Amino acid sequence: MKPLKERIVNLENSDYHMHTSSFSDGIPTINELVQFAWQIWMKEIAITDHSQVSIDKFRKKNNISAGSTARYSLRNRKNVYNDVNIIFWIEWDLLNDAWDVCFDIQWRESDFVILSAHSWIYEWKPETVTEGTINAIKKYHDKIKFIWHPCSFADFWEYYDIEKLVSVANEYDIWLEFNAKVFERDKSNLEKLDYLLKNTNKIYINSDAHTLYDFKNVRKKAIQFLYDNNYLK
Ligand SMILES: [Zn+2]
Ligand SMILES: [Zn+2]
Repeated sequence: MKPLKERIVNLENSDYHMHTSSFSDGIPTINELVQFAWQIWMKEIAITDHSQVSIDKFRKKNNISAGSTARYSLRNRKNVYNDVNIIFWIEWDLLNDAWDVCFDIQWRESDFVILSAHSWIYEWKPETVTEGTINAIKKYHDKIKFIWHPCSFADFWEYYDIEKLVSVANEYDIWLEFNAKVFERDKSNLEKLDYLLKNTNKIYINSDAHTLYDFKNVRKKAIQFLYDNNYLK
């Protein structure tokens, strides 16, 4: 196993998981994120709004009327503010333990995706979430960039079998995420995180920002934790 420093893709100046009010449940708009990214020295970011099933359920649950259809205007999108490279991916939702996922936002798909499973969308037994995720990896590994916070206490993630997940991720050459927002909120299972950090071939450290505060701060705290605990030297 290579040293952790070489297995983490984005120790510096890039962040591949964040949400906007333009398409899902973040506070900043896409334009605000893009402008702020420059101020905090980012070189590349991926904006990864939640898939349509999650947006629809969120709106229904909170009685929010349907919002913008601005995605159509993103066809010829260009960053006119600065030199940060902007990528658009979608945070897919696992729907069940077969291999079904929600692909789109407003019927549009992205080249690459994050695979997530929210407890209020995944309506099957929580014990089946590892199997469901592994089935989805087997079917869609060409499109999946990484699996979101597998070490979180949030939702039903106590059911995640981290050893199985690491082994399948390594086999299919996809990344696992050290989710800095979950860590900053003290919602990481540190034992699972330790296993992930020591055994996973490819790792992202992302903010999963829903606010500019998250975007600016949480990755720094997660990286500091790695130095303080001798994961990084
Ligand atoms: Zn969200
Ligand atoms: Zn997310």
